[in-house]
Amino acid sequence: MQPDPVFRLTPGKRVLFLTKDPELIRRQLRGELDLTLADLSAPADLLDDINTDVMTPAWVCFHHRPEDLAREAYAGMVVDGERVFPRDALHDGNFEVIVSGQRKGVGSSRETATQAEKWSGIRLAVAESFAPIHAANNVNQGVLMAGYDVLARLQRGEGVPLEELYRDYDPITQLIVQQGGLFPFAKALAHGEVTLPRPATARRPMTMAEKILARHMTGVADDTRYVKPGDAVVVSVDGGYSHEFTTAQVHYFLEQEYGPDYRIQNPERFAVFEDHLVYADEVRKMRPFLDQIETLRQLQREFQRHTGVRDFSAHDRVSPGICHEVAREQMIEPGQFVQATDSHTCMGGVNNALSWGVGATEYASLVYDGFTTVEVPESIRFELVGALPATCTAKDVMLHILLRYAREEKTLNRVMEFTGPGLASLSPDERATLTNMATECSARTGICAADEKTLEWIASRRPGTDIARLRSQVVEPDPDAEYAGGIHVIDLSAMRPMVAHPGDPDHGVPSDPTNGEYVDQLGDVKIDIAYAGSCTAGKIDDFVFYHRVCKDAVDHGWRVAPGVEFIIQFSSREVEDYARSEGFLETFERAGVRLIHPGCGACIGCGPGVSETTEQVTVSAINRNYKGRSGPGMLYLASPLTVAASAFTGVISEYRPGMFERRLVTA
Ligand code: SF4
Repeated sequence: MQPDPVFRLTPGKRVLFLTKDPELIRRQLRGELDLTLADLSAPADLLDDINTDVMTPAWVCFHHRPEDLAREAYAGMVVDGERVFPRDALHDGNFEVIVSGQRKGVGSSRETATQAEKWSGIRLAVAESFAPIHAANNVNQGVLMAGYDVLARLQRGEGVPLEELYRDYDPITQLIVQQGGLFPFAKALAHGEVTLPRPATARRPMTMAEKILARHMTGVADDTRYVKPGDAVVVSVDGGYSHEFTTAQVHYFLEQEYGPDYRIQNPERFAVFEDHLVYADEVRKMRPFLDQIETLRQLQREFQRHTGVRDFSAHDRVSPGICHEVAREQMIEPGQFVQATDSHTCMGGVNNALSWGVGATEYASLVYDGFTTVEVPESIRFELVGALPATCTAKDVMLHILLRYAREEKTLNRVMEFTGPGLASLSPDERATLTNMATECSARTGICAADEKTLEWIASRRPGTDIARLRSQVVEPDPDAEYAGGIHVIDLSAMRPMVAHPGDPDHGVPSDPTNGEYVDQLGDVKIDIAYAGSCTAGKIDDFVFYHRVCKDAVDHGWRVAPGVEFIIQFSSREVEDYARSEGFLETFERAGVRLIHPGCGACIGCGPGVSETTEQVTVSAINRNYKGRSGPGMLYLASPLTVAASAFTGVISEYRPGMFERRLVTA
């Protein structure tokens, strides 16, 4: 439904302020309190970094119908062990506006976060800033967004022209808002009711991202393939994928919009993966949801059969691997434009491709149409020089960038380009850690410059691949390309082992990957769980790191510290086969490690390695430390080396070669 040309608050409807004081939220939900902007200091009194795991935790996403999952809106907001939002609280509170602080909707790309608000009656989300994917999901679902100035006027009884709510968007996004969301827009486009603007950017130097988007523009002559940030373009999509957490919604939306006989474009370029929930039955808290999880699996299989997309289903309850790892092994090529329903789709940028996560609605629309619309993002460039010390990995580089650049929003909604001789010194697996964690930086995505290592890595996994063809697709930035976020030189030799601490979310300090701290300044943090795995840290080179530490330890008589559970999980079958062939498994066994077959597992709270109590402390090589994501305990993010070393010492410790020589323990 198209929104009214003037937005007004509906008489009788309410505005919910998500305050740092949880009691104020509870009182609003109970109907005891109605606040206005004048009662608060915004954004200081409002919650920042509300992540999508808080809005719809993993178990809520086991519902694929929006009206069902909306009943559990904000189920992940738990203070002192109690849900701030009981079931149906958002819906029953009769709210139509929801207000928060900075970076609303960080975290995963799950569109369920938007759906939970929309199907609870929210028409307008107000915040200081929004995470890019969440903002796109709001636009696609027809949820309007505004800042505090607009809210102040609305609460004074004024009407705000709709145009004011979208005028800062690119021209195509403006059309989507005017139509009331992506599906109405797509239908209006198909019926010739809207006309798309054509960018007319003159020849200019371009970044890697700009070159890829320019190359993919549809209906444009070859000599006009130039774009600049802010241009709205229609681009073809080379490929993509969804997983069992998201596919059911894609299928549901396509059936709802286009009928049960819908067809998609180029199914051979797209895929489904069974990776997120394969080991959910090993987590006690997940057992009540096993029927719903099975429904998601069945619906994914139904979608795969219906559309003919590539099938990466689990067999004998073993996943072929985490979608992002397998996609970079098997699917993604340099210069491609790839879209998938997961925020870590950015990992594909390691292959010199442009890839980012989208919500289920956007994905459904693009597989149906074969194209999508994009506002050309700004870029920020990280020129890496030097080489990492033996104590650090690419994870430490990202924790550094998160603390020094992302925390100040320098990476917000920008493409992070990684270039330079320091990048060349890293292996493709290590480079993949850089692009993988672009989403933690609230960036649009990350992309690495390609070299022969990149091409050989891809070609070696795909028999018959013409490496010259891959080389011809490579993009590199023009020498004088413009970077709105600047060009930043990072000396890898100056990196130090870091963690991101879990914050204190019950008291307004979000658990956030930007909470960087140096390991040697951390003091003694005793751990209960060391988890090593995920798309970020389950790659072959991560296993080389784990093995290096474990071998060093067991060769000196060490075993995993008493009271610590050390779990290592492969990110793909290829990684598992490699570790087996190299004899790593014997070392892990001697060390007392528990190994898990490929999949997401504990990273999404659905596998061995999740914490079970709020007191437990985990040091983890995954990419996000949001409260509740991997169990209720406190989770420190760290590098593969730090995680492995900590598993033996029992406290968070950086790995130093020779560290296990100081104490010889006989097993
Ligand atoms: S391993 Fe974790 S971050 Fe990666 S895709 Fe799976 S759930 Fe997402």
